[in-house]
Amino acid sequence: MTLTLEFPAAPLLPPDRQANQPPYYTLTALNSYGLQDKYTVIQVHECISSKNDGMRQVFRITMESEGMKKTRNFVCKVAFGRRWFQVLKEEALLYEGKLEALCGKAVPVYYGFFVGETYKGRTGIMVLEDCGRPLRVSLRRQPLYFRRSVLDALIDVHRAEVDLEDFTEDNVVATHHTESNTYIPVIINFSNANARHKCRFTGEFKTYSPMPCPSEIDCSELWRVFIEAEILLPRYVTFFSREVPVEYATSVELLKANGHPPEHTPQFKIDSVAYEVVKKHYDWCREREALDKGKVQLDTRLSDVTAFLELCIQPISKIMAQCAILPSAVRARLNPAADATLMAERIVRYLFDYLSSFVGGTPSELSPDTLHAKPVVA
Ligand SMILES: [Zn+2]
Repeated sequence: MTLTLEFPAAPLLPPDRQANQPPYYTLTALNSYGLQDKYTVIQVHECISSKNDGMRQVFRITMESEGMKKTRNFVCKVAFGRRWFQVLKEEALLYEGKLEALCGKAVPVYYGFFVGETYKGRTGIMVLEDCGRPLRVSLRRQPLYFRRSVLDALIDVHRAEVDLEDFTEDNVVATHHTESNTYIPVIINFSNANARHKCRFTGEFKTYSPMPCPSEIDCSELWRVFIEAEILLPRYVTFFSREVPVEYATSVELLKANGHPPEHTPQFKIDSVAYEVVKKHYDWCREREALDKGKVQLDTRLSDVTAFLELCIQPISKIMAQCAILPSAVRARLNPAADATLMAERIVRYLFDYLSSFVGGTPSELSPDTLHAKPVVA
């Protein structure tokens, strides 16, 4: 019984090395689990990431199963060379072992780890479910339901004895649920994980409960993520280097009456510090409220989209009618029927101006909602 993977050589090879290579590499599953099938990668859509001089790469692919006669999209992680092969193999064994029960829930569905030889020597390819788009926007900026789901998923991973140790938003991808128009987080990337974690946090946590003392959440990673995700309410504010219960930070007068500023502090200083502390707490609460009701914020560095171009194509008679209501200075120069060449030239210039407006912009701020003013064809 074997399970094999046919992976096209082209995306793995630099162009000058492609000539003498087979069109496909054949790799065999480390563990077939009684399955006999041939998976063929029929399209490589994009390289999502490339690290360590290209020795570790992640691709988004379309793959076909010969046995199931089905075609679907997946994500695959590729590792070349002994060292990175071993790292990827250990991650694959986590999916086959401690994370197995969480596949399709807190972590992606795992479809196998394939082993073979390519032009770079020992090569491993791990095939996973494509769980959507990366988050890459800090957890604290996400709505409440999503932050809660991320923490629940992370706790599940910890209870499976796996600790990512340096968990960040880069370990989260979000799957869109069309019916409810919500996102479900999935935890990814276990290449640095500690698989012998004995999590000491065994309790439950309540959203926006007052922050417990660190010993109540007795797991350093969970504690850090709880704080960073702002899922618990602070108990105190700092007023003249002293901790004052947060309920006194709801008004300047209340804080001054209960804050006990140091003796001989000038009144104007007490007033201004109390105002700053109350305002900071108020602003935090309002910001938290807005973010909680807001949408899930995803990575806007769209790898496969550079610009959304909208063209308005109308009959020439309609354009003439619109030209007629333009200011006379513009109208005098605009008679598209009279000079088609001139009009064509202006349309090209218009498109050039429009596309150039993206140059110099911040790519990370580009999103489907980004609007750029379109110049008038004149
Ligand atoms: Zn833990």
